[in-house]
Amino acid sequence: MTVICDYPNCKNKGPLKSRLSPESKLILKMKKAISLKDAYREFYYCKEHHEVLINQVLIK
Ligand SMILES: [Zn+2]
Repeated sequence: MTVICDYPNCKNKGPLKSRLSPESKLILKMKKAISLKDAYREFYYCKEHHEVLINQVLIK
């Protein structure tokens, strides 16, 4: 099974599993917007975008 990075417009293979969504920064500010389905969904990212999302979450 080949997984593709979930980051918008990215076609790289995404081997890194994460709970972070591409809109994680927005979701953190709007927790009411998180549905149970989205909260438990798992995303896959390439190494580059995984780091991008981690940095977005850490920056306040
Ligand atoms: Zn990517």
